[in-house]
Amino acid sequence: MEQRRTALVTGASRGIGKAIALRLAKDGCNVAVIYAGNEQAAKDTCAEIEALGVSSLCIRCDVSDSMQCAQAVAQTVEAFGGIDILVNNAGITRDGLLMSMKEGDFQKVINTNLNGAFYMIKHSCRQFIKRRSGRIINISSISGVMGNAGQANYAAAKAGLIGLTKTTAKELAGRNITCNAVAPGFIQTDMTAVLSDKVKAAISEQIPLGRMGDVQDIAAAVSFLASQEAGYITGQVLRIDGGLNM
Ligand code: NDP
Repeated sequence: MEQRRTALVTGASRGIGKAIALRLAKDGCNVAVIYAGNEQAAKDTCAEIEALGVSSLCIRCDVSDSMQCAQAVAQTVEAFGGIDILVNNAGITRDGLLMSMKEGDFQKVINTNLNGAFYMIKHSCRQFIKRRSGRIINISSISGVMGNAGQANYAAAKAGLIGLTKTTAKELAGRNITCNAVAPGFIQTDMTAVLSDKVKAAISEQIPLGRMGDVQDIAAAVSFLASQEAGYITGQVLRIDGGLNM
């Protein structure tokens, strides 16, 4: 029987991260569920993972804190013996036009969305190197590819993730470790629930496929990139946006 793989997914208490965690659990992975503060939602994700017959680990960890990331990695390795798949999904928005954007809001988004992924990769890559295998998947955004008015902080962080992805891919390829980015377009989650129906309708009109995406659209791609079959794909940015940017 194939040995169970272990996935660590940040921001797995809700939205896209939760869908990824459940999809990887369905694929037969044990999953470490990283969350910021929403304990009940994280516990619910863990219960759903365990109902699929695999194990879960619920870890509260602010990814913008390097020490907490190191501890989350160590806790996962101790519980499951290693990490095979790292998904850097945790992210926040603090939108505003850049002329009036507070420095604190710029830094907070960079610290969470970009630095968080760097810390997680840095602290887990030694064990990937030792195992001579691994899959790292960073959840970027179409905002990081195209830019987006009102999201200078978010677009900068998400574009930074793409540079981080390509560099990680180059540095670790020799050890059979792949690193790719997924750049979602507009996906229905708590993050986009704040948009008015009018704004959502206007967005959908711009999307060739005529609708906002579903969390499963992202989870399916992550499942593939995490699979054995994707072993010759590295340093790529997969846009999943209904054709918004092509
Ligand atoms: P949600 O707001 O629904 O969920 C965010 C998740 O990130 C939660 O699990 C939250 O934990 C966690 N999180 C937030 N801050 C931290 C932190 N400092 N440390 C650890 N975990 C944290 O977001 P989405 O599911 O919509 O987005 C997921 C990712 O996809 C993000 O990186 C986002 O930028 C990206 N994305 C989303 C798009 C969309 O349209 N929704 C489009 C493009 C990219 P808790 O529940 O504890 O707060």
